[in-house]
Amino acid sequence: AAERLNGKVVFITGASAGIGQATALEYLDASNGTVKLILGARRLEKLEAAKEQLLKRFPEAKIHIGKLDVTDTEKIHPFLDNLPEEFKDIDILINNAGKALGSDPVGTIEIDDIKGMMDTNVVGLINITQAVLPIFQKKNSGDIVNLGSVAGREAYPTGSIYCATKFAVQAFTESLRKELINTKIRVMLIAPGIVETEFSLVRYKGDKTKASSVYENNSPLEPQDVADLIVFATSRRANTVIADTLIFPTTQG
Ligand code: NDP
Repeated sequence: AAERLNGKVVFITGASAGIGQATALEYLDASNGTVKLILGARRLEKLEAAKEQLLKRFPEAKIHIGKLDVTDTEKIHPFLDNLPEEFKDIDILINNAGKALGSDPVGTIEIDDIKGMMDTNVVGLINITQAVLPIFQKKNSGDIVNLGSVAGREAYPTGSIYCATKFAVQAFTESLRKELINTKIRVMLIAPGIVETEFSLVRYKGDKTKASSVYENNSPLEPQDVADLIVFATSRRANTVIADTLIFPTTQG
């Protein structure tokens, strides 16, 4: 696997926390520090801290951090155009940025939360994909991993919009994979169950009690468990696509 990742340029959205941040470390680990990482998120200070931590482990690592709001569609092309030359030729795209906002009955969901989830999880993911795809098509190779969710398989009450966004991610991923079936571009969906990250804190808008109660009667995955699967999926032989995978803690049904 290390050989297949050697020198690859990996672009991770939502790399300032949780699964995205863990994925950055996992790629460096799995490639003996040779991958070149593009890490995007809105909180630049978090990305700076993450980069510092990664460089402690891999002092020679090539890491480009950049402020990126996936909902700001106008800025996606400038973000890619302004990449330093050695990061421009992206090989692997991890569409990880995503969120749930609130846990409410349909009648009371605020329009800003609806748009926030749709714009980030669906429109943002599609826009990033559209922007990176020409790079892959030019060389007829590249991997796209989209983060779905078990919520994109089974809808639950008070999660209507989040579930709708993750069902959309699943459908988009499947459609794109089929569209590109005769190319060497692989499109993959990784759909986690419960993972302990900042996800719940964001969902409950900073309410730590509510956020931590989500994990109380569960044994959530750690972000590196999902990161490990992402790296595994993108380091298979070129004839193989890990098309669509659920990853659960063993306690989740
Ligand atoms: P976290 O909240 O820990 O991390 C989310 C990341 O996304 C952060 O780095 C955040 O950075 C970034 N992000 C949020 N909005 C934007 C935006 N508009 N533009 C760019 N980056 C953004 O969550 P997880 O690591 O848990 O979630 C990662 C993915 O996994 C999501 O797609 C989520 O839906 C999915 N998932 C998570 C599960 C879980 O139980 N945790 C279960 C199933 C799926 P910043 O705020 O700095 O922009």
